Amino acid sequence: MSDAKKVLSALEDELGWQRELYKDLHRHPELSLQEFATAQLIEQKLASWGFAVQRIGGTGVVGVLENGAGACVLARADIDALPVTEATGLDYASTATGTDSDGSVVGVMHACGHDMHVTALLGAAKVFADQRDAWTGTYIALFQPAEETAAGARAMLDDGLLTKVPRPDVALAQHVMATEAGTIGTTAGPILSAGDSIKITVHGRGAHGSMPHNSVDPVVLAASIVLRLQTIVSRETMPGEFAVVTVGASNAGSKSNIIADRAVLLLNVRTYDTELRARVIASIERIVRGECAVSGSPKEPEFEYYDQYPLTSNDADVNARVTQAFTAHFPAGAVYHTAPATASEDFSRVPDAFGVPYAYWTVGSVPADVYRKAVAKGTVAADIPANHSPFFAPAIDPTLGAATRAQVVAAFAYLAKGE
Ligand code: ZN
Ligand code: ZN
Repeated sequence: MSDAKKVLSALEDELGWQRELYKDLHRHPELSLQEFATAQLIEQKLASWGFAVQRIGGTGVVGVLENGAGACVLARADIDALPVTEATGLDYASTATGTDSDGSVVGVMHACGHDMHVTALLGAAKVFADQRDAWTGTYIALFQPAEETAAGARAMLDDGLLTKVPRPDVALAQHVMATEAGTIGTTAGPILSAGDSIKITVHGRGAHGSMPHNSVDPVVLAASIVLRLQTIVSRETMPGEFAVVTVGASNAGSKSNIIADRAVLLLNVRTYDTELRARVIASIERIVRGECAVSGSPKEPEFEYYDQYPLTSNDADVNARVTQAFTAHFPAGAVYHTAPATASEDFSRVPDAFGVPYAYWTVGSVPADVYRKAVAKGTVAADIPANHSPFFAPAIDPTLGAATRAQVVAAFAYLAKGE
């Protein structure tokens, strides 16, 4: 049997315990940076298979398996769940609650499929541990906390990730999506957007509602800012270039007869290009400062940047190599070229910090018949619950098998003997 065949047939044997583990993780989701039981479970499994295991960044876990000379591959799964109350009705649905960062008690659910990522990466880790004669090099399985709050990759880097594990040659990651189960989507270049949230405080001068002449009205100021911000995408960005500027919240005042002294705007920006991102942010600041000056605002506006996600942009060579391997080891038609999504991720912080290329791909999770029917009717958005929905329910089969196979096949493209 060839080495590739050996590795791929070993994979089928893991699905039994993986299904049970997936249900167990799904039943016991944990919020970002609180993934204590999940991390412990991952640690125990990796250690029992012979990985050198470290806890990095609180609830982050890294297992390193050194197996002779050759390439070093880092494969990553995120492990956190969301403050969402599950409504799927599955027999392994979560009834867990947790305490959110603001102190409120919330339902907790793996509504983004990270339980699938964990289970698939553990399956791949087990295969590489069991089949050491079929490959050569170093395999790093990295389990990252707090993807949903953009804090986890940074926490692992702040805790010395770069000096605690061997420098990889390449990094790999994947995400379960509400697309056809069994399919894998890849693309070179941007696959997820950079995301920035900005809290903007602009200052006016408060007054009695009957005496506008004594005020600098922050409601009028905020309104003109919101309108003018629309021109960043429509007038300043080249048609065809992708940028999103959303004003998600605009708050000022509380009574009809009082003119407030400030307004607060919450903005969300998405881009696929770091230069364009810098330009959009500069435009936002310019417009806000300009409108404040025109209004006679008595104080400089304040900008607070938060929930910032880096761009996820696949290296062309790594994507080509991984896509070729997928095409060779998945059924015909299962691997397709995907358009970039407007969502964001913090995975790329890790390869960017190491200065190494990476590939990130998507894994479908909706039964083929259900998905195709919705596509035919044009009702995908209405009928198929997507990530973060309380109804998000990946079909375990064939999703889990495909996600595990993808992690094995992509890493093996670098770890096969003779590579
Ligand atoms: Zn998510
Ligand atoms: Zn996610």
